[in-house]
Amino acid sequence: MKTIIEPFKIKSVEPINFTTREERENILIEAGYNPFMIKSEDIIIDLLTDSGTSAMSAKQWAGIMDGDESYAGSKSFFRFESKVKEITGKKFIIPTHQGRAAEKILFSILGGPGKYFPNNSHFDTTRANIEFTGAEAYDLLTEVGKHPEIRADFKGNMDVEALEKFIKEKGSENIPLVMLTVTNNSGGGQPVSMQNIKEVRKVCDKYGLPLFLDACRFAENAYFIKLREKGYENKSVKEIAQEMFSYADGATMSAKKDALVNIGGFLAMNDETLAMNARNLLIVTEGFPTYGGLAGRDLEAIAQGLEEVLQESYLQYRIKSTEYLGNKLLDAGVPILEPPGGHAIYLDAKRFTPDIPPHQFPGQSIVAALYLEGGVRSVEIGSVMFGKTDKATGEFIPPPMELVRLAIPRRVYTQSHIDYLAEVIIEVYKKRDKLKGFEIVYEAPMLRHFTAKFKPID
Ligand SMILES: *Cc1c(COP(=O)(O)O)cnc(C)c1O
Repeated sequence: MKTIIEPFKIKSVEPINFTTREERENILIEAGYNPFMIKSEDIIIDLLTDSGTSAMSAKQWAGIMDGDESYAGSKSFFRFESKVKEITGKKFIIPTHQGRAAEKILFSILGGPGKYFPNNSHFDTTRANIEFTGAEAYDLLTEVGKHPEIRADFKGNMDVEALEKFIKEKGSENIPLVMLTVTNNSGGGQPVSMQNIKEVRKVCDKYGLPLFLDACRFAENAYFIKLREKGYENKSVKEIAQEMFSYADGATMSAKKDALVNIGGFLAMNDETLAMNARNLLIVTEGFPTYGGLAGRDLEAIAQGLEEVLQESYLQYRIKSTEYLGNKLLDAGVPILEPPGGHAIYLDAKRFTPDIPPHQFPGQSIVAALYLEGGVRSVEIGSVMFGKTDKATGEFIPPPMELVRLAIPRRVYTQSHIDYLAEVIIEVYKKRDKLKGFEIVYEAPMLRHFTAKFKPID
């Protein structure tokens, strides 16, 4: 088999600003060892997120020039609507400025105190939008999905038995909908199988509940199904995606992921009353129903991006290049969440630096070391982000996993960038005995990971 090459040529480039190790030492101190506080021009390889960081194609940029900025009835809206309908098969398509705006509208209508929402794993904005209404969000991930060292094909699956038990316990009348996140972002970018989607659908039918997909990475999920699930190897990714959506009554989407754009999102659904209520809220918070919170040009770019994201040469490159990084790290003995996910590689900080206890933030220590070693920006997903302090005892309660996420922007970095990245990570791993724990010297009362300042412990 020959090398899988990037299925594009580069027409427009963005220079990388190189820094020296000495410079990075000072930048780290000034940023309080928090990657969110570092200027992007001081980053060599930026893996903070895959959200809104995609490189757009020449055709998407052409669409930007061609966008119809009419307030109502814009032709760009109709192109967008017809593309989303073609893939999702849903009757009502509502543009929003990003994924969480779609969530805000959906859960404002369906949420409220006494309501319960099950999901394989809620993304943090989804959970926040549910809890903001007074409703409760529950994660019902399969057991295998909770173990970073176990290799399995569909670690994003929902525990169907747990779902049925949950419905019986809470009462189907208190559950406005069931949600499946594809791929499972919070669980490591792991896919959900078609079999699992069908089984969840069956339970939903039994109790008369609607099923919605959190569809941010639907194309990556569909490609994993093609690679790993029996009976799908000869289907096109588009057919697989269409089948996935066919079992759902609706979807929320952040176009900043698998629509290959820098901003945008949508809500899709079949229920006419729900759509009417959603459009009424949309007009208050986002804009008229033929533009949502977006410009006409954004709708053109999304329509084109949805076309390109389903091209198999793109998905092969996308999934294989993430796996390529994962395999390089595994070959060097670096512990990662296995198998490699679609949009990111996660370093398993518990095994990477076993001597740093959770309350000294092993993930944050690795994040700082990766920046110092090679100007790489990553993000801690562990005790900094999710750790809690017991108010009564003052005891620190860590989350189950200590991870460092390396999210790969779409179509942005080439194989030599990834090779460099692997070298940096492996170098830090070799020197792992020298890594120190951290303490927090400043934290905000909420979402502390964005602005916290740290200090290494001597
Ligand atoms: C990014 C994301 C969202 C929220 O979308 P935004 O465009 O960032 O508002 C929701 N769910 C999942 C799974 C995501 O990855």
